[in-house]
Amino acid sequence: MKILLNNTSLFESLRQFNDLGFVPTMGGIHKGHLSLIDKSNKLCKKTIVSIFVNPKQFNNKKDLKSYPRNIKKDLKILKKSKKVDFVYLPKFNDIFKDKKKSKIKLLKKDKILCAKYRKGHFEGVLDVMNKLTKIVNPKKIFMGEKDFQQLYLVKKLLEKKYKTKVIPCKTIRDLYKVALSSRNCLLNKSNLALASKIYKKLVGIKKNIKNKKNISSFLNLKKKELKNNYKIKIDYLELRNINNLKISRTKKNSRLFIAYYLNNVRLIDNL
Ligand code: AMP
Repeated sequence: MKILLNNTSLFESLRQFNDLGFVPTMGGIHKGHLSLIDKSNKLCKKTIVSIFVNPKQFNNKKDLKSYPRNIKKDLKILKKSKKVDFVYLPKFNDIFKDKKKSKIKLLKKDKILCAKYRKGHFEGVLDVMNKLTKIVNPKKIFMGEKDFQQLYLVKKLLEKKYKTKVIPCKTIRDLYKVALSSRNCLLNKSNLALASKIYKKLVGIKKNIKNKKNISSFLNLKKKELKNNYKIKIDYLELRNINNLKISRTKKNSRLFIAYYLNNVRLIDNL
């Protein structure tokens, strides 16, 4: 596993490879990331993982400050997996060296779900993914369905601009069905127990949707119940079509999306 600390070393090392699988991360490596690496390893000749906490996608300074960082531990896990050929650890200037402001804007119809509640977040994600793709030039990029809206927006942008294919990967959960996330280390035991309960509730809610005529008002009611019963703040609870993320009036081709807060940590999930 070769560690690439800057773009010169990256260009030098990757020049000879044209079947590259790329797994972009912000570190805090867990089994969710490892499942993306696994898939890349199966589908591509070489796998490169990047670790970069992109300040441009944080709409909240506190969140950026508290974001878990432990490069030493991450590198140990990646090395142990024996499935990573390169780790790219860029500095801010390796990615954002030209100071021009990014022209990437969200369409009005995409300002939904997390885009509505985290102003500027996806513009930051799309900017960094555009730059990383230009630098790394991978054949395939592996991204998790846990961050479904991110996957949807990045795929739409990159596949139009580059030859790269964005490959969706299933959400990996812990023993109690909580979706793995680097931010989970900011939760205590009782937060995690509650997250597990909420997941089970969501499964029940999704099951019940098929019998409901007016899905939106049913979900509004369920949102209020979750809020009151568990004393949590919920940004959204919505059923949306997986192909265009429009509000769904049927369960077919749809997922239930939620964003909520536990211990001031914002969690998202979809099922
Ligand atoms: P992050 O480091 O949180 O920015 O995530 C890097 C990549 O890993 C993104 O494509 C995420 O969607 C993906 N990812 C994060 N958590 C999970 C999970 N529990 N299961 C599958 N993929 C995940």
